[in-house]
Amino acid sequence: MAMIPVELAGRSYQVLVGHGLLDDTATHARKFLRKARVPVVADANAWAAHGERLAKSLATEGFEIAPYLVEPGEGSKSWDSLARLVDWLLEEGVERGDHVLALGGGVVGDLTGFACAILKRGCGFVQLPTTLLAQVDSSVGGKTAINTAAGKNLVGAFHQPSLVLADLDTLATLPARELRAGYAEVLKYGVLGDVDFFEWLEGQGAAVVGLESKPLERAVADSVAAKARIVAEDERETTGTRALLNLGHTFGHALEAETGFSDRLLHGEGVALGMVLAARYSARRDLTADGAAERVARAVVAAGLPAEVSALGLTCDGKALVAHMLHDKKMDAGTLPFILLRNIGEAFVAKDVALDDVAEFLDG
Ligand code: NAD
Ligand code: ZN
Repeated sequence: MAMIPVELAGRSYQVLVGHGLLDDTATHARKFLRKARVPVVADANAWAAHGERLAKSLATEGFEIAPYLVEPGEGSKSWDSLARLVDWLLEEGVERGDHVLALGGGVVGDLTGFACAILKRGCGFVQLPTTLLAQVDSSVGGKTAINTAAGKNLVGAFHQPSLVLADLDTLATLPARELRAGYAEVLKYGVLGDVDFFEWLEGQGAAVVGLESKPLERAVADSVAAKARIVAEDERETTGTRALLNLGHTFGHALEAETGFSDRLLHGEGVALGMVLAARYSARRDLTADGAAERVARAVVAAGLPAEVSALGLTCDGKALVAHMLHDKKMDAGTLPFILLRNIGEAFVAKDVALDDVAEFLDG
């Protein structure tokens, strides 16, 4: 098991990464549980696969679970489901000093985290992430949000969990495509800031997505540590360091928008493609060393992720993709910062990117 401390705003909490952690939830989370009845907000699929282990662990320490099941899918990050969840937590009598457990992927983590941020002006919560994406990304860093008609993640709050238990065994039931999509965020940490990690992933990436125990644990733990480092430096995204986490996301979001945020392209698949595009665009501008972009593309393909837009059956229409970028929520006073590469492991924020040039590049 790995234990990664996250230090934010003078507070610190632990992310534990390892096998079988859910079976020991009661031991790890005990100090946060003041009452015998424990509210658990769970993704219905994660609950079906792993709820019993969680319930059993809590029962051995005399706790009883009050489960609240959330329908799987992005649709659950809505005003409606937030209102229903907050009402339920109030009915359950959750108080400020209490903790709510969140079992599931990023959807449940974001929804529960936001509900806990506003419940009685903030109650505690513990993240039990069950997707690779949630373990390496969304459960760390304290961003919580829901979606509105105007776009994704536009309403939310910074609210840190008290503890994160990333049980690697939960990934065994995750659909393979979701697993690979989460791996894109793992690879991202190497590409943006750690060439040694990237090199290790070039060799071990297949073992990681094959869920081999040791490589998987290292990949998740190192990813969490990388994210923890970055968010500790820039908790509220003011200095620009945190923006590096957006590598691959500007191109990726445009592709997600172009496919209507549908099953045709999962978020992580968009990020994988977006990283390749960011690397190739950096090469076009003579910013990166020769071959770096194609090395990123090979690592993406090796994990079974798409590196070419054409692989999605999409034509790469520069104008259409740039039109989506104009609605990107990172747009800042008329300019869109792009995360580009000087080399693998050396990403930086470029604020001088002309969208016309990006459109021309995308048209190939
Ligand atoms: P998700 O929560 O939708 O889960 C993906 C699918 O896997 C769902 O169908 C779910 O039911 C299923 N599932 C979850 N765990 C399972 C398990 N162990 N076994 C079987 N099936 C399981 O998706 P996600 O990729 O985890 O998260 C995406 C969300 O995270 C997006 O809403 C995104 O905006 C958000 N996000 C937030 C942050 C942040 O910093 N807060 C960062 C990145 C992404
Ligand atoms: Zn992402």
